[in-house]
Amino acid sequence: MVATSTDPGQLWAAVLGQLQMQVTKPNFDTWLKHTSGLAYADGEFVVGTPNAFVAEMLEQRMYSLIAQTVESVVEAEVEVRFAVESAWADPSNLSAGQDDEAGHPHPNPLPQGRGGEDGLTLSQGRGGEDGLSPPALNSRYTFDRFVVGKSNEFAHAAALGVARQPGQLYNPLVMYSDVGLGKTHLMHAIGHQVAARGMSLIYSTTEEFTNSFIRAIRDGTTDEFRDYYRTADVLLLDDVQFLIGKDQTQEGFFHTFNALHQTNRQIVLTSDRPVSALSLLEDRIQSRLAGGLVVDIQPPDIETRIAILRAKAEGSSQKISDDVLLYLAERIHKNIRELEGGLNKVIAYADLMGTAVTVDLVKSAISDVVETAAERQIPDSVVVDTVSSYFGVDVETLKGRKRDKKTARARQVTMYLLREESQLGLATIGEVLGGKDHTTVRHGCDRITNQLSVDASLRRDVINIREMLAAS
Ligand code: ADP
Ligand code: MG
Repeated sequence: MVATSTDPGQLWAAVLGQLQMQVTKPNFDTWLKHTSGLAYADGEFVVGTPNAFVAEMLEQRMYSLIAQTVESVVEAEVEVRFAVESAWADPSNLSAGQDDEAGHPHPNPLPQGRGGEDGLTLSQGRGGEDGLSPPALNSRYTFDRFVVGKSNEFAHAAALGVARQPGQLYNPLVMYSDVGLGKTHLMHAIGHQVAARGMSLIYSTTEEFTNSFIRAIRDGTTDEFRDYYRTADVLLLDDVQFLIGKDQTQEGFFHTFNALHQTNRQIVLTSDRPVSALSLLEDRIQSRLAGGLVVDIQPPDIETRIAILRAKAEGSSQKISDDVLLYLAERIHKNIRELEGGLNKVIAYADLMGTAVTVDLVKSAISDVVETAAERQIPDSVVVDTVSSYFGVDVETLKGRKRDKKTARARQVTMYLLREESQLGLATIGEVLGGKDHTTVRHGCDRITNQLSVDASLRRDVINIREMLAAS
């Protein structure tokens, strides 16, 4: 689309139209929907955002996508800048949903003065004596110990926001990712902060929630069940994908959810399935979700993996050199739990053998963990060639700047497969593809990941290409 106008508002509307097709709906609604085109002059385009948090997130996570889209609309090179627009300065507007289009701010008062004497420090395990650290929360899962990288910065920022102002910013907050990427860690971190401020919270796995609901039905104590959950300032419900197919428990959940939500109590949910987390909520409580936020956590890039390992290695009995950390980080990439497990294994092994940790020792200690990953790795040139011939887009074009639909799709699939099949980091993928920015690569990978769950023809393409790769 080429704009003939130079009016920033109109230009930005065109940009938003394109962005809407390129990012997920929750991301669009949260980060882009309430932005505006403020000014366009001297090669600078100023985007107005409702608050500094949104400005920062857009700048950090969507800059290259936004800049590219603006450039394609205005057909010129531009610098994009984000500025807080005072009309939106009230942070409660951030969570404005359809019903708030008229601009009525949410009252969302922070429940004050709870806790302390009436301090219900609830958790499924009950009984934290000092009320500061509910027993169900893992004491190591704090914000301090959470390493922030590109893959989790959105989720981290949202969790921190919710922990500081429960019930005020995003409600519910839904975090989703594959297993082992830090959802539970962030959820507990919220719990610790909330408890430290004397607010009451319930942390429960969805399995425990389901079990106690079933027990309540059996014993005829569903009222007590409801009261118990309704007293919490903050409800943390982990792994809501367990609710799928459990209609009766879902019913119990919705009543609890509504009761809490109506009184501005904070609800935080995690799920290891994006679609389930959304459809589960969207079907039944769509209007409520408008004030909520869904954030994802992606597998960490190599820098983040090294940073996580370094943090974990610091407190260990062994001194661990950088080449050892790098060796581990390069070979274990999809799951932080496995990454930690690999490191622990290496440390235990070295303790046992009474030797220092060397790369050779690591090789034998974790050979079982990494062998499969190493075997699967497909050279990047094979991936590029295969995708190129599958889509009929030549390699040069794939590595170039052309951005028609077909080329863009082929390029994003290449990015995705380079990450999945060649196990390359974002920056390396960018290099392979002719010097693309790593944020562009991440966007490409995210886009394919998201589209795969809704686009059957893309799914077929990716399966076909994978088969070609396996046969190569
Ligand atoms: P999930 O709930 O997504 O399956 P967890 O929260 O249980 O994942 O995380 C798995 C392990 O990885 C935990 O031990 C957690 O502390 C660790 N972990 C995950 N993300 C990070 C991070 N960003 N920094 C430090 N440790 C992390
Ligand atoms: Mg978990």
